Amino acid sequence: MDLVAQVASAPRRGETVAGRSFTTVPGGKGANQAIAATRSGSAVSMIGAVGDDAFGAGLREALAASGVDVTGLRTAATPTGTAHIVVDDEGGNAIVVVPGANATVTALTEDDERRIARAQALLLQLETPLEGVLSAARAAHAHGVRTVLTPAPVPVEPLPDELLGLIDLLVPNEHEAAALSGKADPHEAAAALLERVPEVVVTLGAAGSLYAARGAEPVTVPAVRVRAVDTTAAGDTFVGALCTAYAEGRTVPEAMAWASAASALAVQRPGASSSMPDRTEITQFATKEVPAS
Ligand code: ADP
Repeated sequence: MDLVAQVASAPRRGETVAGRSFTTVPGGKGANQAIAATRSGSAVSMIGAVGDDAFGAGLREALAASGVDVTGLRTAATPTGTAHIVVDDEGGNAIVVVPGANATVTALTEDDERRIARAQALLLQLETPLEGVLSAARAAHAHGVRTVLTPAPVPVEPLPDELLGLIDLLVPNEHEAAALSGKADPHEAAAALLERVPEVVVTLGAAGSLYAARGAEPVTVPAVRVRAVDTTAAGDTFVGALCTAYAEGRTVPEAMAWASAASALAVQRPGASSSMPDRTEITQFATKEVPAS
């Protein structure tokens, strides 16, 4: 759950300031991507955990109302994961993330394994512990299920070779790509990451996205030119839609064009998961707006 306070300027240590407004926004990369994938047409089963508290109940309800299967979402005896966000009038922010219940997702249940085994694709993020992510990637690999990883947040320690070795498609944004590869240029970062995963999509905000695969020329898919009012969930909308198209067997560049239509729709509206478009809207907009690359 994102807890967002708007202030004129953020408090310094020892200082108390009056905030102008406070909102709670359902969040979490996994939850946002699950909703984006569902809206774009996938049947999504989410594995994760919320706490035994009001935030947990609210998040579970919001996911279920969006059509996400939450039977694999556990309720842990710790508080729900929260992000405490202070946004100042210059648009700067300071964030404290408390993993809470997310920290309990360290292993798979037998039911989780069955869910993975019958999926077309497994979509992973790093807001839950690496051990759990690794177990899920191993299960997908064992059952021949394709695996997509959003490497966010980038951990302080390097990502284990075993995990990257189990990933089919890595989808970092440009900052994550730079942090993982040590290369600031997205083309160079993608090339370096190809030594560890077979296919990479680097998202570049309003500049679009870049696809690189072993033994192929890189492909750039432009973003759709729109007037953005809130880019909060652009990346999660993109990844959710990308994963839907990828699971349906479209090529990665085709999936990127479709995902860029989805995220261009989302950035034109305020909100995170509430701004995510559905499949009909994406398809109409993609047919109308997205140039064949
Ligand atoms: P993240 O939110 O993870 O940093 P990006 O900012 O790279 O992700 O955005 C993901 C995708 O969303 C981009 O590849 C692009 O297709 C789309 N997008 C982001 N910002 C805009 C924008 N201002 N206008 C149109 N499309 C955008």
